[in-house]
Amino acid sequence: MKRAAPGEFEIIREYFAGAPIGEGVVLGIGDDCALLQPPAGALLATSVDTLVADRHFPASADPAAIAARALRVNLSDLAAMNAQPLWFTLALTLPHSDADWLQAFADGLLQTAKTYGVALVGGDTTCGPLSLTIQVTGSSQKPLRRDGARVGDAIYVSGELGASAAALPLVLGQKLAGKAEMEAAERAFYYPEPQLVTSAAIGGFASSALDISDGLLADLGHICAASGVSADVDMHALPVAPLARQLAGERALELAATGGDDYQLCFTVPQQQVATLEKLGLDAVCIGTIVEGRGEVHAWLDGERWFPEAAGYEHF
Ligand code: ADP
Ligand code: MG
Repeated sequence: MKRAAPGEFEIIREYFAGAPIGEGVVLGIGDDCALLQPPAGALLATSVDTLVADRHFPASADPAAIAARALRVNLSDLAAMNAQPLWFTLALTLPHSDADWLQAFADGLLQTAKTYGVALVGGDTTCGPLSLTIQVTGSSQKPLRRDGARVGDAIYVSGELGASAAALPLVLGQKLAGKAEMEAAERAFYYPEPQLVTSAAIGGFASSALDISDGLLADLGHICAASGVSADVDMHALPVAPLARQLAGERALELAATGGDDYQLCFTVPQQQVATLEKLGLDAVCIGTIVEGRGEVHAWLDGERWFPEAAGYEHF
């Protein structure tokens, strides 16, 4: 039997107010503001992201998966700055109150929060078209910015690229697939891994970093623009995800270069630190070099310039 639809305050009390208290939380959910004690000597890093139904995910998607993705994507921004997650808030807009949906959503959210040691400290609950906004705050002793890349630096990418973009048509129901492929696609799309371990490892010596949300070449362009340099990228060096090859075939390389939503890190390392990095044995590969220029990214394939058919994602 379907459970009765809870009201606004019941939603907050039932599903969110019981969230575990985290480090530095003097006062959590329930008052007009949360009261938070930042770690001594650290900078706070804060970021917000909104996911809109039928724009960023299908409205009919598994609520636990939606919640997981929303929080993971935000944590990825903290990873990109070499910040450790502390707290987050949730602004949730729901078309209607549905106890089963809320239970699955809250379970997915709080499970993810537990995995990454981040505490839900407040939010807002409203009625309207399904969307969720999460703001995360973390602390950083050694932030990694976009504007520190210098000519000669090596460019690295963590993990694998292209899986999420290759998974998107399946996740959106635009392309049919077998059960195993569907599950792999949903894992890639809804459960990106925020690269917190990698960023903590490189924080001491990397010259710049960001997370790849809009596509490698477009995002690397942001590093170049902010740093006043350009980049040469060797397309053969891109770590193309096996799932991208499986789902997208010949287009896998293009998706690795331009597809969004992988949430891997792109970072630069001064040449004299490359040996230090390589010794760490991280899951990261060198894909190119920072060169003189004015914010351009040049991709090369077999000695010739390579151009994507599609550019990175922009909202407008
Ligand atoms: P106010 O009217 O003062 O803005 P609300 O009634 O919106 O407060 O919220 C009451 C308390 O519940 C606040 O502490 C707020 O942070 C928290 N809250 C509301 N919605 C959520 C949510 N979706 N997740 C977590 N906390 C929430
Ligand atoms: Mg309110």
